[in-house]
Amino acid sequence: MHCTKCEKEAIIEIKYAGIKLCKEHFIQFIDSKVKHDIKKQVHFKKDDRILIAVSGGKDSMLLLHEMHKIFGNWKNFEMIAVTVDEGIGDFRKKCAKIAGEYSKKLGIQHRTITFRDYIGVTTDEVARVDKELTPCTYCGVWRRKVLNVYAKEIGARYIVLGLNLDDFAQSIMMNVLRGDVARLARLAPHLRRIEGFVPRIVPLRKVLESEVRLYNEVAGIPYYPKRCPYAHLASRNFYRSFLNDMEKRDPAVKFSILNFFDRIKPYIEKDFTKNLKKCKICGEPTMGEICKACELKLRYEKLKSCVK
Ligand code: SF4
Ligand code: ZN
Repeated sequence: MHCTKCEKEAIIEIKYAGIKLCKEHFIQFIDSKVKHDIKKQVHFKKDDRILIAVSGGKDSMLLLHEMHKIFGNWKNFEMIAVTVDEGIGDFRKKCAKIAGEYSKKLGIQHRTITFRDYIGVTTDEVARVDKELTPCTYCGVWRRKVLNVYAKEIGARYIVLGLNLDDFAQSIMMNVLRGDVARLARLAPHLRRIEGFVPRIVPLRKVLESEVRLYNEVAGIPYYPKRCPYAHLASRNFYRSFLNDMEKRDPAVKFSILNFFDRIKPYIEKDFTKNLKKCKICGEPTMGEICKACELKLRYEKLKSCVK
């Protein structure tokens, strides 16, 4: 199997594009896809400070690599990599170590912030107490809040997330099948600035998970290979298998879902991002009186007091 662009041996067949690529052309293909999509999502200023959320897993480590490749030579552009330690045994500590080492190698500052400090509760504590909701329900909401709060604290103008196309298509499908238009409307990328929210940018949203894996392998990008011990409980697992099955019949299905989202977003965005209030407990923006993060914290505290 030869590369469509040169005579070298191809390492991948990209079915949705009808091409086969060698190592160099595959790297070029992904790099230009990422660069092109960032340009569509945001116009960074030369002196912006941005926060890159780096869990230490394969996606965020590729994100860090790409951000450095694209913006590393912008002199006054400040990139700060941050790992949120949710308090899951020593899982995230191991991830954070790899994220910290790679950031250092690239000359990007790296910090670790914790649920313990920002929420007061860890994901392990929640998992012990709440037998009904999955730890991921808490963890995802709290991570979003912690990143938003921290970005504001340090004056970051954007939060950059390493979601790949598989993650993204799953999130769209989850919200569609749950009928949750509000959440669908608030998915990144955020092209408009809303008071209290630091806009989130998702440069890898057109890169398939399998492409991330291959890129990291051929470019030698390190990452923590194990999954979170709670990952098997995540409700998105169902959507992952469903979309992977669909992909066998239609290799472009994940792109179609993303295109569908891009087309409808402008029509739903305005209705679900206006009239935001400040959470009565923490002051973060919310549609209701209390934000989802505080609602979950209250739920946890109530359950915990019943367990005692
Ligand atoms: Fe949190 Fe669930 Fe992700 Fe683990 S799998 S880090 S519990 S959201
Ligand atoms: Zn709140």
